[in-house]
Amino acid sequence: MQADVIVVGGGVAGLTAALAVAEAGGQVALVAGAIGGGSSPWAQGGIAAALGADDSPAAHLADTLTCGGGLVDEAAARVLTEEAPARVADLLAWGVPFDREADGTLALGREGGHCRRRIIHAGGGATGWHIVQTLASVVRETSRVRLLEGVTVIALRTGLHGVSGVELRWPDGRVGQLDGPVVLATGGCAGLYQRSTNPETVNGGGIVLGWQAGAALVDLEFVQFHPTALALPVPALGERALLLTEALRGEGAWLCDARGRRLLAEGPLAHPQAELAPRDVVARAIHTARQEGPVFLSLRHLDAVAVRARFPNLVTLLQPLGLDLARDLLPVAPAAHYVMGGLWSDQHGATTVPGLYVAGEVAGTGVHGANRLASNSLLECVVFGRRAGLAALAGRPPQGLDELLAAGCELVAEAPLPPPGSAMPAKLGTLLDQQLGVVRDEAGLLDVLARLPEEGAALVARRIALGAWLRRESRGAHFRTDCPAPQSAWCGRIVQQRGVPPLLVPVGAPAQVGGRR
Ligand SMILES: Cc1cc2nc3c(=O)[nH]c(=O)nc-3n(C[C@H](O)[C@H](O)[C@H](O)COP(=O)(O)OP(=O)(O)OC[C@H]3O[C@@H](n4cnc5c(N)ncnc54)[C@H](O)[C@@H]3O)c2cc1C
Repeated sequence: MQADVIVVGGGVAGLTAALAVAEAGGQVALVAGAIGGGSSPWAQGGIAAALGADDSPAAHLADTLTCGGGLVDEAAARVLTEEAPARVADLLAWGVPFDREADGTLALGREGGHCRRRIIHAGGGATGWHIVQTLASVVRETSRVRLLEGVTVIALRTGLHGVSGVELRWPDGRVGQLDGPVVLATGGCAGLYQRSTNPETVNGGGIVLGWQAGAALVDLEFVQFHPTALALPVPALGERALLLTEALRGEGAWLCDARGRRLLAEGPLAHPQAELAPRDVVARAIHTARQEGPVFLSLRHLDAVAVRARFPNLVTLLQPLGLDLARDLLPVAPAAHYVMGGLWSDQHGATTVPGLYVAGEVAGTGVHGANRLASNSLLECVVFGRRAGLAALAGRPPQGLDELLAAGCELVAEAPLPPPGSAMPAKLGTLLDQQLGVVRDEAGLLDVLARLPEEGAALVARRIALGAWLRRESRGAHFRTDCPAPQSAWCGRIVQQRGVPPLLVPVGAPAQVGGRR
């Protein structure tokens, strides 16, 4: 079996990539373990785009850069913010039912780190679900897309010329193969954590596939912890944490202690942007405050009717717990939510391996730097999903890292690395929560490195730990108590590749170093 492009993943990135290839006249095989089986349908808040009369892609870019802690690849982020309105127009044309104001214009929400109202949303806080449903139905009606649903990619086929296809497994155990260039859109890895907003299926499987094929990883130490996940179990979600979207704070929700004192508006944790400070700041503040007592999200001071109308899905999810979104104090704590890094990618989804492209959360495009701006992730899926699909169809060549090595980017660790462990720990998620969470330190990171083997899900966790151990500073979502400040020497991106020493790469490289982009 052969395809012009094989897309792996049935989330927003994979569906977008498949539709882009089909619209360009290519034949696509879309292999999806499950359509909507990853994080995409869970996305609540929305998708960011400069659509308001008072807004511009330049303002959106500025917010993205400010939030990213000095590590955002500005050229890639400019692509993200400038192409946003056109990709939203695609979503509207495909039929995504974004929420509208009474006058018919798109309703624009606000979230942390954004200087303007620029978040479009659907079904109140059910944006991801609506996008997935809509794109999936368009895909099912597109004759150029052959949908292999329920099928898993178990390996990438590699040869002298890079990746040439995939090995597949059907649910009944049958195996097979497909030939063609591959776009991995397999999602991130935050589901590896025990306390996570992601489904457990979001476990870095695509990162492992890419690594085994020789592709480089970047920025893996930057895991975003969402500040406001409900600190109570929700039976309907099993072990997963219920996200209380940032859009709640965008509509005016407060973060308070048990006495009703606003944590980010007064006292030692205050920030000029208060509850709308960037996610890393708010997550650390809540983590710190929780050492003294519980922290609550409160919407009691807002119009209850308007709150319930704006977030109907959260009202429904909280009801069985006996909680009223508009009237009760909602206990919150940070939870693993998103990984900024992934498989190294240029502005067209090309990795360091010929024939292999990436899009969505599995990709390390550099648009998020050390800390993602809220609602830029679904945007990344549609902007770079389209680009990766088209690049794969056109056979865009990869970018090697040889010139970075030649340019002296090799990163020398201060001490020898502990050798990998030999057995997968029984509770990997708990280990990650404890040692690779909102706050890290050298002893904890060395503990993780010594315990985890270099295989399967543990490989991803070990590579997160390695990046976090190498990076002897605090920046964005990566905070180390033993080196709590940013260091200018570390203003670069850590690249890891099998058989190659880690690199510390200037932001924007290899354009800066080798001029190959
Ligand atoms: C609770 C929650 C709320 C969020 N809210 C927002 C928000 O408001 N705005 C925003 O911008 N972002 C939000 N995010 C982040 C955003 O949803 C994700 O980053 C994004 O949806 C990732 O999309 P994706 O297409 O890259 O991957 P996913 O949606 O995770 O999809 C991965 C796909 O790959 C398939 N797959 C994986 N491995 C294989 C394999 N080996 N073989 C075959 N198929 C495979 C899976 O079945 C799945 O279909 C949120 C995330 C969560 C968890």
